[in-house]
Amino acid sequence: MQLSDLKIAVVGAGYGGAAAAKALSLLGARVDVYEQASRIREVGAGIGLRPSTMNRFREWGIFDAIAEVTSPSDYFEILTATGDPIMKEAWPADGEQVHTHLIHRGDFIDALMGALPEGMVHLGRKLESVEDKGEGAVLTFAGGTTAEADLVVGADGIKSVVRHQLFSQKPPVFSGEHAYRTVISTDAAHGMVVDDNLRMYIGRGTKVYLLPLRHRDQVSFDITALDPDGTWAPQVTKEDLLTTVEGFDERMVAITRDLDMDTVNIRAVYDIDPVDTWHTNSVVLVGDAAHSMLHHQGQGANSAIEDGGALADALKQAGSLKEALALYQATRKPVTDELQRISRQGWTEEEINDVFPGQKPAAAGQE
Ligand SMILES: Cc1cc2nc3c(=O)[nH]c(=O)nc-3n(C[C@H](O)[C@H](O)[C@H](O)COP(=O)(O)OP(=O)(O)OC[C@H]3O[C@@H](n4cnc5c(N)ncnc54)[C@H](O)[C@@H]3O)c2cc1C
Repeated sequence: MQLSDLKIAVVGAGYGGAAAAKALSLLGARVDVYEQASRIREVGAGIGLRPSTMNRFREWGIFDAIAEVTSPSDYFEILTATGDPIMKEAWPADGEQVHTHLIHRGDFIDALMGALPEGMVHLGRKLESVEDKGEGAVLTFAGGTTAEADLVVGADGIKSVVRHQLFSQKPPVFSGEHAYRTVISTDAAHGMVVDDNLRMYIGRGTKVYLLPLRHRDQVSFDITALDPDGTWAPQVTKEDLLTTVEGFDERMVAITRDLDMDTVNIRAVYDIDPVDTWHTNSVVLVGDAAHSMLHHQGQGANSAIEDGGALADALKQAGSLKEALALYQATRKPVTDELQRISRQGWTEEEINDVFPGQKPAAAGQE
């Protein structure tokens, strides 16, 4: 297979699409990215980029551009609502030299977009249908424009049109939770930010995440709370948020009381069931389109980056496109199936034991 002859169309310019575009263009393939939005934007919130993700960026020559807008972190800690430690996961994991790096989602997508050649990303192109022709596929966008490619990469997120038309009609699954996310200044954190480590406080079904972004003098403040309303963008008031953090450390209650609700991103939390097959001979899924998972393990965006790397690796190794796509799925699907499974666990004492086998939570009973 001559990779430089390959014409690749990526649908979606989120983390998954951008990473796939970067990795595949480095192989010499001709890559175009089609994004429905007229402007690239992300939610105001932070995430942790794992060592394996950072290693991919090193491989792609963009480590410095990403690291520049991050703060390295040593560990992730789980605590009770009132701050008693339950569990601590050191990162980097044993033997790995690279740290997890904490980043603002907006900075992350900007850095990834900045790493793509000019003209590769086409905005305002909303995919309406994909036709698999066996050898190659045809995309049709709103307004009737089309594009043909030898390989289509469906990176169009949890509500993926590509997945729905070719691989699975099962709708996303509501978790029974809402996520309320914003970024505040460190000064507004009432002394809760003491170092560069991610902390999650749990109590009565609510999880509060404080993810420091020292390089911005900010902290990402996220509440995940039980709520039976599965409306994708539910209406929620400050009083509702305060109810979810009742009984939490008074400083977290004070942060919540001070929030500017206009800055808070509010959404119901969904994932998908594992999809049996991610590819035909000319269309393949990556990122949330393939394996959207709940955020309890902080692995969705990281997995999307890994997918791009694994897809490029498979194309390099295999003798044909067909073989490459099968190899990609065989490499990635067992990993993401398991992440989807453990991400559905909500951090009760038993669930913490399942995720951190062999470690006994110290104080989970106080939750
Ligand atoms: C509350 C919450 C917290 C999270 N926290 C973390 C975390 O800490 N760590 C972590 O690793 N992950 C986290 N995630 C998961 C992470 O956000 C996702 O896994 C990641 O954004 C998936 O990237 P993606 O590129 O696959 O999909 P998306 O980011 O959804 O991107 C899909 C892109 O495709 C475009 N698109 C969609 N449909 C079409 C169409 N028809 N035509 C053209 N373009 C289209 C969209 O506009 C979008 O730009 C969290 C998620 C949530 C909801």
